[in-house]
Amino acid sequence: MALLEVNNLKTVFKTDAGTVQAVRNVSFKLEQGEALGIVGESGSGKSQMMYSIIGLLAENGKVEEGQFFFDGQDISPSNFTHKKDYDNFMRQFRGNSMAMIFQDPMTFLNPVLKIETQLVEPMLNHTDMTREQAKEKALELLKKVGIPSPEKRINQYPFEFSGGMRQRIVIAIALANNPKLIIADEPTTALDVTIQAQVLEIIDDLKKESNSAVIMITHDLGVVAKLCDRIAIMYGGKIVEIGTDKDIFYNPKHPYTEGLLRCIANPEDDNEKTLTPIAGSPPDLLNPPKGCPFVDRCEKAMRICKDFAPEVTEVSEGHQCSCWLLDKRAVRE
Ligand code: SF4
Repeated sequence: MALLEVNNLKTVFKTDAGTVQAVRNVSFKLEQGEALGIVGESGSGKSQMMYSIIGLLAENGKVEEGQFFFDGQDISPSNFTHKKDYDNFMRQFRGNSMAMIFQDPMTFLNPVLKIETQLVEPMLNHTDMTREQAKEKALELLKKVGIPSPEKRINQYPFEFSGGMRQRIVIAIALANNPKLIIADEPTTALDVTIQAQVLEIIDDLKKESNSAVIMITHDLGVVAKLCDRIAIMYGGKIVEIGTDKDIFYNPKHPYTEGLLRCIANPEDDNEKTLTPIAGSPPDLLNPPKGCPFVDRCEKAMRICKDFAPEVTEVSEGHQCSCWLLDKRAVRE
């Protein structure tokens, strides 16, 4: 049984300009201990897809369709008669089963509480540990994520730490309840390259040690290269390609994936010169294209791409891609 199973998720947002179809028919599975990277440009639906699943959509957002199972349990909003019951259930569920790491650690850390309080209180709320046991575990976690002199620093406030150190503290808090799933949304985007690599290494070590599953949401394919076992590429609210890290890096099939790969610096090259950004802009999800969402930016687009959405093609076991180039029925013109 998969740890997380998402079937046919559709999420919309009501805005003054109309209804934004942010996530369109997304399905995927995540196994225990697996790391899945969700990669796409901003506005591709990657974060909203995740927030739909974990019950953190903004007020104007709504899961219109879809079913999600976590460890076999149905956690879809449609499984609850009243929104209040769903919200209460999800609050408890997030605290017990999953941990979240966001781009800006300060959206998570409370600026007026000492690190000790922020680490120890969730453990007291969600486990039967005593305060002493929780403090001991807090010190152990700070040590694990590389905070020097944890006995002294546990008594400090978030502003006394650098950005990279704050992100390490968020990771320590995230791990305090041994979550089955860690969700990291652009966790290293605000950090410089060296600190970025260190934070990714910490998440990777902890994942291996605790056997937690990880979902890493990022716009940067380079970030998922080391950490993720499988990668889903999102575009225009859909998963357009999903496969193992090897499938995506060495055998990409979707022209958008190929474009993203051309945007990653190759350390062995004279890299600045080899980076080629994808020309054009993402589709307007107020009025999503009826054919392939990538059609306006695709160098390989054919006539059929404009009017008909490509179906999912199984390239090899677990490697799927939605592109007419893989469909024998498509007329090449
Ligand atoms: Fe390009 Fe057509 Fe494939 Fe879309 S379906 S990515 S437009 S070739």
